[in-house]
Amino acid sequence: MKRSGTWKKATAVTTALLIAATVWQTGTAAPEIEAASKISEINKQLEAIKKQTKDAAATQKSAEKESKDVLALKNQAASSVNEILKQLDEVGQQMNGVQKQIDQTEDDLMQAGQQLEEAEDRVEKRDKMLQSRLRLMYQNGVVSYLDVLMSATSFTDFVDRFDALQAIVNQDKDVLEQHKKDKALIAQKKVEIENKLSDVKEMYTKLDDYQTVLAEKEKTKEKLIAEYNQKMEELEDISEEQEQLMVDLAKKQADLERKKREEQKKQTVFYTGGKLAVPLKDSYRISSGFGYRIHPIYHTKKLHAGIDMAAPEGTSIYAAEGGVVITAGWTSGYGNTVILDHGNGLWTLYGHIRNGGIKVKVGDSVKRGEKIAEVGSTGNSTGNHLHFEVRVNGTPKDPTSYLK
Ligand SMILES: [Zn+2]
Repeated sequence: MKRSGTWKKATAVTTALLIAATVWQTGTAAPEIEAASKISEINKQLEAIKKQTKDAAATQKSAEKESKDVLALKNQAASSVNEILKQLDEVGQQMNGVQKQIDQTEDDLMQAGQQLEEAEDRVEKRDKMLQSRLRLMYQNGVVSYLDVLMSATSFTDFVDRFDALQAIVNQDKDVLEQHKKDKALIAQKKVEIENKLSDVKEMYTKLDDYQTVLAEKEKTKEKLIAEYNQKMEELEDISEEQEQLMVDLAKKQADLERKKREEQKKQTVFYTGGKLAVPLKDSYRISSGFGYRIHPIYHTKKLHAGIDMAAPEGTSIYAAEGGVVITAGWTSGYGNTVILDHGNGLWTLYGHIRNGGIKVKVGDSVKRGEKIAEVGSTGNSTGNHLHFEVRVNGTPKDPTSYLK
């Protein structure tokens, strides 16, 4: 809304200037109008630059704010990563512990296997021994045992010998039973160790899985941090670009303002040499010239600083050159007076204007030949006339040498 309003205003100003330029084009050349139009163009550009600068500042500010937000997110992610790394460390330590248990259990298992083999060996040996003794006793051995028995010297000796054999066999049987029990115990222990190994291995697998999950999590967070870093870099680039843009715009603005001052200077320079326009167009007569004379009222010798142009009351007075009105009102001696500044130190003065005859006001720009006042006889005057002065840097000059 604001933008369109500004444009409308700018357009209206341009239109007014165009109309003014068209009207004045029919009159004398008007460098001041050209300058005014240039100034209006510069003002438009300045307006645009100020808007661009404002936008750049806003963009930069928002980039900085966003960067701050991203930094907060990044810090959050970084602290998550730290937490995850701590957990990973803990899990790693646990896994080390479980690995030690696995190693120990595997050692135990190997030992149990060896023990079992040894027990089996013992059982086998004892079994073989028993078998061989029984074979001796009941099969092949019958002859020899009988021999042993038959060679007994007495029945008592026979019984003793038989008992002795029987005892050896029984002892073999007992030892074998014991070995079998040992073997069973060792086998059971081995199974237990195997179960334990399976348990710790399962635990290790679980920890391993957890470690994988944590590592995955960490990777995700690291990726996020990388993205945040990327984003922050981009935002910093934007901020720097806007900074550079603002510097460029400030330079442009300074250039335009300098140009504007130059144009404004041009605008106030209306007089660049040459003849001035005669301020009265209707018939008039020079009633008094420039120079020392006896004053008609004071009767003293005094410099008459201008020329008197006698004309009827109400005769139009025109600007001798384009200029700016610096006086428009009552001045002692001169009555109602207008003074125009034409630049380059040149002023013109119009005195004794009739009451209500001043048609301009201080600050007005007037063009050469534009009506500014009407003839009268105010102030120290003896009749209707225009007292016209030309001053260069304040010093009165003979106007006739300036008029064409
Ligand atoms: Zn005079």
